[in-house]
This record gives sequence, C-alpha cells and structure tokens, in this order.
Amino acid sequence: MNISVSPLAHGMGAATAPKNLLIGGKLVPSLSGRTFETRNPATGELLATVYEGDAEDINLAVAAARRAFEGPWSRFTPFQRQECLLKFADLVEKNFEELARLDTLDMGAPITFARSRKQRAIGMLRFYAGLCTTIRGETLPNSIAGDVFAYTLKEPVGVVGAITPWNAPLTSTLWKIGPVLASGCTMVLKPAEDAPLTALWLGEMAMEAGVPEGVLNVVPGYGHTAGAALSSHMDVDKVAFTGSDTTGRKIIKASKSNFKRVTLELGGKSADIVFADANMDKAVAGAGMAVFINSGQICSAGTRLLVERTVYDEFVERVSRFASGLRVGNGMDPDTQIGPLVSKKQLERVASYIEIGLGEGASATIGGKQMTDGDLSKGYFMAPTVLKGVNNDMRIAQEEIFGPVVSAIPFDTPEEAARLANQSMFGLGGGVWTESLRKANFMAKSIRTGTVWVNCYGLMDPTVPFGGYKASGYGRESGVQHVEEYLQTKSVVIQNA
Ligand code: NAD
Repeated sequence: MNISVSPLAHGMGAATAPKNLLIGGKLVPSLSGRTFETRNPATGELLATVYEGDAEDINLAVAAARRAFEGPWSRFTPFQRQECLLKFADLVEKNFEELARLDTLDMGAPITFARSRKQRAIGMLRFYAGLCTTIRGETLPNSIAGDVFAYTLKEPVGVVGAITPWNAPLTSTLWKIGPVLASGCTMVLKPAEDAPLTALWLGEMAMEAGVPEGVLNVVPGYGHTAGAALSSHMDVDKVAFTGSDTTGRKIIKASKSNFKRVTLELGGKSADIVFADANMDKAVAGAGMAVFINSGQICSAGTRLLVERTVYDEFVERVSRFASGLRVGNGMDPDTQIGPLVSKKQLERVASYIEIGLGEGASATIGGKQMTDGDLSKGYFMAPTVLKGVNNDMRIAQEEIFGPVVSAIPFDTPEEAARLANQSMFGLGGGVWTESLRKANFMAKSIRTGTVWVNCYGLMDPTVPFGGYKASGYGRESGVQHVEEYLQTKSVVIQNA
C-alpha cells in the first residue's frame, strides 16, 4: 500500500476519479461500477464521487476480514497490536488538521468544533493501545474434588461489521476502530453515505501504521444494500451499530440470521434540567450549546430543556438571546459557531418537526426557519430554534429531531423533573444544573440514562463509558468496557489425574 494521502490532496469535485473501496488491503472500485455523490452541505457543491459498495462487495470484504482474522492478525501479539495502534494515533495526530477539514467539508461541522475533538480522537487510539496488553482471563477456584485446574481465556469474537452515522465522521469511526483492533478482531466498516471520505482515509492510514491487509476494510454504500448485507451476513460475528432507533430495529432483525452479537448506539431525547439555584451564566451557555452544537446533530443533545418554573420565563429568554447571538455559516470560516445540517433531507426533517411543534401549540421564541441570507441560501442552514410552551407529551418532546431545536418545559420539584426526564422511550444522556450537591446526587440517581452530566454537558472522554438505557441501545462504547464488547470468554477445565 502506498503511503495514504488525504482525499483533499487527490483533489475534489466531478473532475477527479471516484474514491475506491478498501478491501483486503487494496483500493478497488465497486463490482457494479456504480458510484454515489457526497456534497458539501454548506455550499451544495460536489465534493467527491465514491464507489457504491453493495452486497457483493460486502461479501468480498467479509472474506478478506475472515482471512486476516485467521491468518496474520491472529499471530500478532498484544504488544504488536499496541504498536500498530500507537503508530496509527501518531498518523492521526500528524494529519489532524486535514482530517478536521474533511469532517467540515463532508458534513458541515464548524472547523473550530472539528478541531476541538483532537485530544479525544487521538486519545481513543492511545487509550485502546494501552488496553491491548491488559486483556486476560482468570484462574478459577472449583468445587470438584481431585486435581482440577480451570481458567478462562478472553478471545476476540471474530469479524465485526461496523456501521456508522454521518454526524461525527472522524470520532465515530475511530470509536469503532480503536477497540476492535485492540481486541484482536478484524472488521468491515460501512460509513454513512452522507460522509464516507474520512473512514476511507483512516482505513489507508491504519495500513500505513502496520495493520495487515484485510484487518480493516472500508465499504461505503447505502444502508438498505451494503448495511443490510453486512448486518445479515452469515460470516460476521458481531455488528457494532451507531445510528437511529429505526435502523437499530432492522439491525436486530437481520442479526438473527446467525445469532451474531449486536451492540447498538442509538438516538436520544435527553433532558437538560436547570434548577433555580444554578449558576445562570454557566447554565445559559451550557444548555444552549448542549443542543445547538454541531447544529443539534449529536445523539445525546440536550433537546428537552426542563427549567424550574420560578425561573422558566427568564431562562428561556436568556437562552433565546444566546441562540440569536450564535454565528451561523460555512463551517470553514473559523468564526462560525453553527454550521449547516448535513443534507436537504435533514433540513426538511427538522423544518417539518418545527411545523409539528407549532401545530401542537408551542411557539418559537427565536429561529424556527431556514436561513437563506446571502451565501447561506446555497446550503442547508436552520436557525437555532427555541420552542416555548411545550409539554412533555408533544411529539417534539418525544421524537428525535436531530437539529438545532430545543423544547423548553417547566417543572416544580426535583421529583417532577426526574419523572419528566424519564418519560421518554430514550435514555442516552442528561444534564443537571444546580449548586446543590443534594439535588445533583438525587437527579444523577433518578435519571434513567447512560450518562448524566452535572454543571456541564456533553463532556466525553475515551476512559468514560458511553451508551444507552432503554431505546437508546445497548452495550457501551469508550472505557474499558468497550474492548469487552469485542471479546468472548472461553473456559478451560483440566483434570490432571
Ligand atoms: P441511520 O440509522 O439512518 O444510519 C446510520 C447508518 O446505518 C448509516 O451508515 C446507514 O447507511 C446505515 N443503515 C441505514 N439503513 C440500514 C439498514 N437497513 N441496515 C443496515 N444499515 C443501515 O442514522 P443517521 O441518520 O446516519 O444518524 C443519525 C442517528 O444516529 C440519530 O438517531 C442519532 O441519535 C444516532 N447516533 C447515535 C450515537 C450514539 O452514540 N448513541 C452517535 C451518533 C449518532
């Protein structure tokens, strides 16, 4: 494999050749020869055409992953896997600015936001590199008379199918790759069709770091073809999926083909709870960015803003003022705080939810419509929107919108706040803003979600497990547990007589 080069350096636009799939260490076109386009959501311009993988390409990629799993990768010691991951981390660090720009061009995230994830992105690889050499079984006491010795081995589950969304291409891809490589599994990665370029480049970079061919295969394509083929494949041992609950249901169904293991990182409708005793300056900015960051395209966004009734009007007004001060624009502009939505389809989805909310009796204190002034008319920009007069039963308070829209709901007591927070089919994240330790502890224990943030929102770290309760999925990513998700336990019992 040649030294990998940024897709940006290869040139972009219609004049350049379609981007290849990465299968078995080779950059190859799709067997069908079909391609699809990926566009810059800030300008609508064509960024690249990409070969469209489907079931046949997935078959080839799974076969390559199986060969690598049983062949060269199985002979890598944990120390060698660690070395690969550390080199890979160095390459990501070296190329980070280009990777951040690619995220911005492909899905619209402000460049300042993309850059802010540097430590987390590299940290994920270095953290999982560290864990390679800690994977171990146990020796076990036993109740059987005689000279019996029992122990467990931790073994990689095998070939992993990883399916990712578009909302954070770099970090969501590394989130899958790091623990999979640490565990000794091999993988076929199907990135989202809306933002496939980062995953392709990372695949090449991993090989440059010494990961053998076939260990990491990247097959961009559509969900209903490539994604469905991967999740139902008879020779895939596990699917690690991040995406919507609707697709998650399909993945569970497809996985029954061979009872493959499944972990699901799904959506959310997280409550961000503000008590009257909170530090208001911190809470206004914190609750604002809890939902508006990345244009609301974050699974754990604090989209239900629960505010203690005594400060409800004042707080909603302050968050609305905060929202109106946010600079919306092309993500490549370093002054931009809020970029576009990823696609026209996403823009239409968000706009239709705002309509639904207004129809249900909510009112927009700010925003509520697409922004079309000047250059914004070329892209898919939605104004940061605050909806007031919302009750928790409305569709806008129950369904995931995945855009810069927050629904403000009043409450009177901590018990009521907890009840409202939990009145949701989802359970991904949640925030609490208070100066009272007693209230913070009460809420942290009462909210049924995978993560609770206190006096902050959305802080993530490679060491801290992340995942859902209820319909937000199962399994944990990040933290030591994430490697466990790719391991299975074998028991060995030896009788020496
Ligand atoms: P999506 O479910 O539409 O797509 C996610 C991925 O699944 C894409 O790669 C898509 O091609 C693929 N896919 C679609 N249909 C498929 C099928 N039938 N079989 C197999 N694969 C299929 O979600 P999206 O719109 O890309 O992303 C947004 C969603 O992702 C939101 O619900 C968001 O909350 C969720 N998300 C969750 C997390 C988390 O960690 N919990 C993180 C980011 C995003």
